[in-house]
Amino acid sequence: MRIPVAEPDISELELEYVTDAVKRGEVSSTGPYVERFERAFAEFCEVPHAISCMNGTVALHLALIGLGIGPGDEVIVPALTYVAAANAVIHAGATVVLADVHPDHWGLDPEQVRARITPRTRAIIAVHLYGHPADMDPLMELAARHRLAVIEDAAEAQGARYRGRRVGSIGQVGTFSFFGNKTMTTGEGGMITTADPEVARRVRLYKNQGNDPARRYWHIVIGYNYRLTNVQAAMGLAQVQRAGTLLGDKLRIAAAYREGLQGLPCRLQPHLSWADPVYWMNCLVLDEGGPLSAARMQELLAERGIETRPFFQPVSALPMYQGSGSFPVAERLSRTGVNLPSGPRLAPGQLEAVIAAVRTILT
Ligand SMILES: *Cc1c(COP(=O)(O)O)cnc(C)c1O
Repeated sequence: MRIPVAEPDISELELEYVTDAVKRGEVSSTGPYVERFERAFAEFCEVPHAISCMNGTVALHLALIGLGIGPGDEVIVPALTYVAAANAVIHAGATVVLADVHPDHWGLDPEQVRARITPRTRAIIAVHLYGHPADMDPLMELAARHRLAVIEDAAEAQGARYRGRRVGSIGQVGTFSFFGNKTMTTGEGGMITTADPEVARRVRLYKNQGNDPARRYWHIVIGYNYRLTNVQAAMGLAQVQRAGTLLGDKLRIAAAYREGLQGLPCRLQPHLSWADPVYWMNCLVLDEGGPLSAARMQELLAERGIETRPFFQPVSALPMYQGSGSFPVAERLSRTGVNLPSGPRLAPGQLEAVIAAVRTILT
């Protein structure tokens, strides 16, 4: 028996829509599923505009372009996240400024952000790490005071709420990924959400090779081909329609871990009162100075057929971003954290096996 860390949940509905798209020959980026997926996702996020694209990384790139961010601008990015946010800032020609995350909730620490604002700062990328919303209110206030844009990288938090509001609907722009291990997936895929019609217009223009929407082959800016295909969108539409099931399974799994892993020398990702997290990945953080390192924990679980993942490396540890400062909270979390199996298809028996293994290893 091997228990995977994440596995897509694909049903007959996805198969039906994808088959329909393929049978009609609508396999490229024109076709009705693209618009249906975008509309369904906008509704799901409770936001006026949702624009599909190839993946979560280009969603971030397009968000920056949509906001007019480029050379000479600085963008604040959390030191603990997937590398895509920092890379997208570089792709846009801007400068990455890292800030540490908050020890209580693992999102950007507003105090650390404040300390890094300069006259060149144009935006903050708030990441909803592992499915738990960042503390948006203080970030939005800080941004308003300094006239900065806020981009929410909600790749890991599809469906999460912050003080009742869907992530992706709070900042000026939200970005999502539908990579194979994300809660809703299209294999590879992404989405940009916004309430700002001008940002939406720019994003659509740049993702489609800068083509004037009113005139074919009339390219008015140097754009990109960042389009999602109708086949991927067909799968995405089914996933959004099944979001209730997928998110319900995530909550069931998280509740089982919370219940089953009490009283051990470790903790799970904190759940703050203002958050409705979606537990994209269940996170185990080992006590520092405890009996085991995170790496050893992963080895012992692997011996029992249980696949896990280490936490992300701090962005500042990667070769391209070295020298960008020291970030003690990000560094400590990265050193001590392990992602447990969290796929929506995890069966109750598999979940019990993971909990029993962790308990045995830690007691
Ligand atoms: C997955 C992910 C992305 C990027 O997604 P891709 O679709 O793989 O490009 C961006 N940010 C975070 C936090 C992610 O987890």
